[in-house]
Amino acid sequence: MKFEELTKYFEKLEETSSRLSLIDILSDLFKKTPEAEIEKIVYLIQGRLAPFFVPIEIGMAEKNVAKSIASAYDSTPEEVTKEFNKLGDMGLAAGHFASKSKRKTSATTVDEVFKILEQIAKTSGEGTVEKRQNLLANLLKKLDSLSAKHLVRIPLGNTRLGIGDPTVLDGLATAKLGDKSKRKVLEDAYNRTSDLGLIAKTLWEKGLTGVGKLEVRVGSPIRSELCERLPTPEKIIEKMAEVDAQYKYDGFRVQIHKKGQEVRMFSRNLEEMTHMFPELIEATRKQVGAESVILDSEALAYNPESEEFLPFQETTKRRRKHGIEEAAQKLPLKAFVFDILYKNGRQLLDEPLKKRMEILKETLPDDDILIRTKNQVIKDPKILATLLDDAISKGLEGLVVKKLESPYEAGGRNFNWVKLKRHSAGELNDTIDCVLLGYITGKGKRTAFGAGALLVGLYDKKKDEFVTVSKIGTGLTDEEWREIHKRADKISIDKKPARVNSTIIPSVWIKPEIVIEVLADEITRSPVHTAGKTDTESGYALRFPRLVSFRGGDKKAEDATTVDELISMYKQQGK
Ligand code: ATP
Repeated sequence: MKFEELTKYFEKLEETSSRLSLIDILSDLFKKTPEAEIEKIVYLIQGRLAPFFVPIEIGMAEKNVAKSIASAYDSTPEEVTKEFNKLGDMGLAAGHFASKSKRKTSATTVDEVFKILEQIAKTSGEGTVEKRQNLLANLLKKLDSLSAKHLVRIPLGNTRLGIGDPTVLDGLATAKLGDKSKRKVLEDAYNRTSDLGLIAKTLWEKGLTGVGKLEVRVGSPIRSELCERLPTPEKIIEKMAEVDAQYKYDGFRVQIHKKGQEVRMFSRNLEEMTHMFPELIEATRKQVGAESVILDSEALAYNPESEEFLPFQETTKRRRKHGIEEAAQKLPLKAFVFDILYKNGRQLLDEPLKKRMEILKETLPDDDILIRTKNQVIKDPKILATLLDDAISKGLEGLVVKKLESPYEAGGRNFNWVKLKRHSAGELNDTIDCVLLGYITGKGKRTAFGAGALLVGLYDKKKDEFVTVSKIGTGLTDEEWREIHKRADKISIDKKPARVNSTIIPSVWIKPEIVIEVLADEITRSPVHTAGKTDTESGYALRFPRLVSFRGGDKKAEDATTVDELISMYKQQGK
């Protein structure tokens, strides 16, 4: 396929403000995509060259991209920057200069563009900046203006399509299987491998059966299983009968992959974080009694002498890119391992938890830096309550209670795993992770910072959409407003993103990327907000919402609290 043709689809995707038409456009595109290119096109749609978990950096600074544009179209970097400042987007600036050149169409293929982008990404060492600039400039010379517009946004990490993984899956299913009914097979494979390109390629080459056979791979993160909520030990035993109750550690999730001596680690949102934790790498090599393994764990700073767990705010200081050795000395981590998902060539997802815990014990017999989670099989609510008290008194968040017979449901959030935190009757016992969707400009003092209220939403997983749940205004300090502006203004856009569903129109739309932790007194029904709203029923909203924190890198917008979760929290209120 010509790159020019692909960018015509990019253009359509960018124009639409409806999620259903995103699927239609993707499906049209995929129907025309040959086997040899499907993988690449799936990655390019998301502005990438590989799945999310592969840390390929094509990053180029604005000023360097400006130099490439200048050199491609016989202009000067100053002229390009002037145009960029006028148009507010380097893509538009590139398009402007390209349209003045004689070339109206381009025969350059997706394959060729992909190869050059790979070359740009792989360039390293002395003269990298110039080499990258030249590669980009030479490529631009061969392209028409639309292609130029979309191409330059890739190295800037600024593609504006905003297409979620579930929408890509819907597009693939519609194109290849006729409708979305067999999408589940694709989704399951995605939960096991986290690699949309691989799934698309397999679907094109080997059909749905081939996709069904895609197994867990060491080196590709498995999508994490998550917890439902129940309010009390009694409710838990009533619903789950006999459970494996484990401490709930409040650090950050680390999925550990080991193959021979090679160890890699992934965060809960599938980001590669291996380089951050040298002590965990060493411990995995030393302690794990298996050639290859995938472990699920929570990393936390812990002092075994005083039995103190450090608070999350401390632990999270270890999520950093620089000064790693020093940080590891100051704040060494332990990893509390609570599951094993793969061992010596065998996928363990379908084994019951009971069996996985046995295998884990054989694989990790002794505690040291890696420590097996404390767990206990319980069927009496009183004993469960005592264990909860024990966890709280140790400074932990509470318990995660798991069904003994349950498989590991990658990407699932259901009653196989339930979190139990300290709860006072009638109040929400958990914070809600909301996505910033926009802000509403206020009057008076706040206008100095240009905001009066934040429009926040949740993720509707079924529809792959963001829906509104609250406006947050009071209680934000000037410092917090400033912080919001610093983060949000970079990603503000001039129209409603296609995956946002809102009846409220804020003064400024923000791309759904920033996750904030919100505490509220209560969940109420609301005719205004679109969270949980149907044709016949009103939506849900938060009463007295307040900002608790900005979630750093550990949560993507799609990891925010989902509408289904909110509804189940609503149902549990006051019980
Ligand atoms: P929260 O913000 O309350 O931590 P969350 O949305 O991040 O919630 P939950 O589904 O509520 O995630 O809780 C599951 C998280 O708890 C896991 O992602 C993991 O990081 C952590 N955790 C700590 N201990 C355990 C354990 N023993 N088993 C499973 N998960 C655990």
